[in-house]
Amino acid sequence: MSWKIETKCLQEGYKPGNGEPRVLPIYQSTTYKYDSTEHVAQLFDLTAPGHMYSRISNPTVECVENKIAALEGGVGALCTSSGQAASMISLLNICKAGDHIVSSSAIYGGTFNLMDKRFREMGISITFIDQDCSEEEIQKAFKPNTKALFGESIANPKISILDIEKFAGIAHKNNVPLIIDNTFATPILLRPIEHGADIVIHSTTKYMDGHAVCVGGVIVDSGNFNWENGNFPGLCEPDQSYHGIVYTRDCGKAAYITKARVQLMRDYGAAMTASSAFLLNLGLETLHLRMERHCRNAEKVARFLSESGKIISVSYPMLENDNYHALAKKYLPNGCSGVISFQISGGREAAVKFMDKLKLAAIVVHVADCRTAVLHPASSTHRQMTDKQLIQAGIEPGLIRFSVGIENTDDIIDDIRQALED
Ligand SMILES: *Cc1c(COP(=O)(O)O)cnc(C)c1O
Repeated sequence: MSWKIETKCLQEGYKPGNGEPRVLPIYQSTTYKYDSTEHVAQLFDLTAPGHMYSRISNPTVECVENKIAALEGGVGALCTSSGQAASMISLLNICKAGDHIVSSSAIYGGTFNLMDKRFREMGISITFIDQDCSEEEIQKAFKPNTKALFGESIANPKISILDIEKFAGIAHKNNVPLIIDNTFATPILLRPIEHGADIVIHSTTKYMDGHAVCVGGVIVDSGNFNWENGNFPGLCEPDQSYHGIVYTRDCGKAAYITKARVQLMRDYGAAMTASSAFLLNLGLETLHLRMERHCRNAEKVARFLSESGKIISVSYPMLENDNYHALAKKYLPNGCSGVISFQISGGREAAVKFMDKLKLAAIVVHVADCRTAVLHPASSTHRQMTDKQLIQAGIEPGLIRFSVGIENTDDIIDDIRQALED
């Protein structure tokens, strides 16, 4: 039986047996007990299922992984300590020194730094491309040592929409997987695997958690990519650190996600804790309700802003005149999340004045949770840049990123209206 997405939010993952707790328990244990050394040996050989140590797997975390895999339509998932750890492990699972990655330049600043600075230090090279370019232009970025194509379904903070089918076509023509960061869309609004993505990652810190209580991340494996194309020996040749296991031979469709867990999570150790997984699971149970309301509220706020006369431009792809409206209609028919960006007339000074006058919308360094929040990139996350550098990076000094919460929209709009008054 295949449930609808709303039902999966509640019913997937944890499936209690007769007389067991109805709600997912927190297995606050690092360790597991066994009846025989033989059983432990089988666990270490990966020939018997079970938990060894909570850095590698934990029953609470496992239930949440299974729920997220079901939501995205993947064969398996791996939770991580943060969204950054998810990006890092998703790429290092298939890239090593001497390899190359092609990525959209419209990505989260932290992911950009990870690739542009840390990966380069490790000997992995990167080419950033404009995701709106033609297939032919993007193709020029590929090299014989390219191992992945990366992009965000809804880019943070640009709020641009990625043409996932175009990207999947290019990736597969080059025999590499397409990795999509689906943080802002969540599987409620968009499931990239249905459009050809091979690996999906999230910062669960944002809408999935939804209440701003836990930093976390997740990697989901579609199980669809053919790793045996000669490009990925790490998945097809014996792993000496695991008694010669061959992931594609021994783990089938779950080759990539099994390697990520038993090799990279074991060695790098960026694991999610059981208590974080418990809180993330609570967030996931209401994700479908919250996303619906975030989208409805954001569209109303975006329309109010675009008609207010004090705003130079509003980016929200549900608006008919938005550059990404056609892509939004195709990929996000039910809405584009709660995040809007807009440019206020009067530049940096007007933006700061507006932000300081807001009462309900809180100034935070975060987006995408249930409370309305606002961020001015030029005076916070991108503070080190001059106005000229900001404009080059596509961030106008007067740009405001507004994360519409699930309060009553009238109250949110009233707050904006009073802050816009002279
Ligand atoms: C926040 C964010 C990340 C990083 O996640 P953390 O949980 O903060 O480490 C990655 N990608 C996107 C799109 C984000 O918004």
